[in-house]
Amino acid sequence: MTAETMVCAICGSAVQPGAARRLSDLTPATRAMLLQEQPALAPSAIICGDDIARSRRQHLERLLENERGALGRLDKEVLDSLQSGLPVATEPDADWGEDRTFGEKAADALSRFAGSWTFIIGFSVVLGLWMALNVTGLLFGVFDPYPFILLNLVLSSIAALQAPVIMMSQRRQEEKDRLRSENDYKVNLKAELEIRHLHDKIDLHLMRQWEQLAMIQRMQIELLEETTREGRN
Ligand SMILES: [Zn+2]
Repeated sequence: MTAETMVCAICGSAVQPGAARRLSDLTPATRAMLLQEQPALAPSAIICGDDIARSRRQHLERLLENERGALGRLDKEVLDSLQSGLPVATEPDADWGEDRTFGEKAADALSRFAGSWTFIIGFSVVLGLWMALNVTGLLFGVFDPYPFILLNLVLSSIAALQAPVIMMSQRRQEEKDRLRSENDYKVNLKAELEIRHLHDKIDLHLMRQWEQLAMIQRMQIELLEETTREGRN
């Protein structure tokens, strides 16, 4: 078969020799999918890469649907990536943080600072100073006598503001975790499907080898029979 006559048996488009396969060289599942579409395909029919990818996707779609019911958004993304050959994995941290608004950046910075030893030690020093100054009356005189009502007001105001800021930051963290786990799910599913495909390919290869071996053996037996017959005559 020359390069000019290579035409896909499914869509009829001209194909490059490297991008096409014979029907008989495809894994059984992909072959069954193509035969279901066009039952009259010969084993030597040339199939283009796009049609192979499409039928493989159909096979995987059915496989996943049979195993788990309806397909989700993530499953579809994995199937798209298998069909197109593009990587499915993204780096959630890479595009995270670039498009943060000023408020989100401030919330992140504040909650980071509020959860640090610097904040705890610094705040303890301020509290200690406030109480010491008011007990001793040094520097500013007693502006908040024992039991420090003003300090109570300041502390509860800080606590009231701190809680929503921390919640804001936590919500963003959860969103980030969700993106990460989605990414993990997609990568794992794709790897699982690719490994299954590799298994099918290896099985096909072993079967071919076995057939070839049987054929060689048959030829050897025929040769032996011929030589013994010649020897007798
Ligand atoms: Zn085609």
